[in-house]
Amino acid sequence: MKPKTIRGMNDLLPETLGTWRYLESKIIQIVESYGFDEIRLPIMERTELFKRSIGEGTDIVEKEMYTFDDRNQESITLRPEATASMVRAGITNGLLHNQKQKMWTMGPMFRYEKPQKGRYRQFYQFNIEAMGYAGPDIDAELIILCARMWKVLRIKNLSLKINSLGNKNTRAKYREDLINYFSDNLDNLDENSKNRLHSNPLRILDSKNPEMKKLIDEAPILLDYLDSESEEHFNKLKNILSDAGIDFQVNPKLVRGLDYYNRTVFEWETDVLGSQGAVCSGGRYDDLIEKIGGKSTPAIGWAMGMERLVSLYEYSNEKINKISPHIYIAIDGDEAQKKAFQISEELRELNPKIRIQLNMGGGSFKSQLKRADKSNSNYAIIIGLDELKNDYLSLKSLRRNQEQVKIPFSKINELTNIIFD
Ligand code: ATP
Ligand code: MG
Repeated sequence: MKPKTIRGMNDLLPETLGTWRYLESKIIQIVESYGFDEIRLPIMERTELFKRSIGEGTDIVEKEMYTFDDRNQESITLRPEATASMVRAGITNGLLHNQKQKMWTMGPMFRYEKPQKGRYRQFYQFNIEAMGYAGPDIDAELIILCARMWKVLRIKNLSLKINSLGNKNTRAKYREDLINYFSDNLDNLDENSKNRLHSNPLRILDSKNPEMKKLIDEAPILLDYLDSESEEHFNKLKNILSDAGIDFQVNPKLVRGLDYYNRTVFEWETDVLGSQGAVCSGGRYDDLIEKIGGKSTPAIGWAMGMERLVSLYEYSNEKINKISPHIYIAIDGDEAQKKAFQISEELRELNPKIRIQLNMGGGSFKSQLKRADKSNSNYAIIIGLDELKNDYLSLKSLRRNQEQVKIPFSKINELTNIIFD
């Protein structure tokens, strides 16, 4: 009987990780070029943190969290997202008081959802958060940073939707009117939306049910309720984006699924990955830090789903192969093995970037060279009896021309020149 993984939680195998590693390293370089510092957070927090921040009426808290009691009967939750933990860490470590922070993190998130392409129970996010910034300049910078990522990574097929949720008071008024509007049309609401009517009516606007479309299209529009400060904030954001040459669409129905957002929200979407089209989503959460127990601090962030980003990258680019060795060393006998251990250490000393696979477990030259081929190595070093006797190694190209040259053991420093040519 084969052991099974947990549904929706996948192993990421070496063959698939070439693209991941490439994207991750580029993204880190980009966010650091905008002054973001790394922070690493626990993957579990007290359940209370997520309930308070994400909100009781949300899908995540209602039905998607992995929550359990630890041995001390304390309720613990595997993080479904990173912002709450970031904020908690900012408060716990005194990073927010009279300071500004720009931080990034990446790692696994956990949501009990129906697994399908682009939707998993363990998935990976890249997150950035800017705390202590009131915007709209930083709001724009976070989006401009995204545009730079798409450009550097040659990722196409993404469009930007933005909206403003205003402030708490105007949203409360809107919420009321929305409940009234949907209550007047109760017969046209689907089951799901009826359930949300009082707990989270804004989420009804997110419904993907085509039969709800007309009703939603005719619903009151949140942007009509904006207070003048939020309106000005939103206008400035739009101006900076336009000046930066960034295309966007205002989508007044974009509300995002978490309770803590206010003012700016945005989503980069694609239509080439089926229905899992949200690749990078974010927004402002000016009230969250105070709600979690810190001093009132404005903040904004975004989260990007790495699986979806990888799929989108591979949609319009060649898949990136996993890293393969530069050299495979094939040997004949104990004496050759001794020599091989010695020179492979010397080579690693000479160039720490070199990747060497030393043949393990013996075998004929023929089978060793087969393994060398399979490893996708560029070169094979061969050390046999003649080589040992005459103090040289044979370097065979496994790629271009299968050419073989002799290199004296005393000159192996020349090897790295050939290999990295
Ligand atoms: P969706 O509308 O697809 O459910 P969401 O609004 O729940 O997305 P967020 O909470 O904003 O997503 O998370 C940020 C990003 O994380 C999403 O834009 C998406 O790329 C990714 N993501 C969210 N849930 C999953 C999941 N279950 N599996 C893979 N990626 C996910
Ligand atoms: Mg979701």
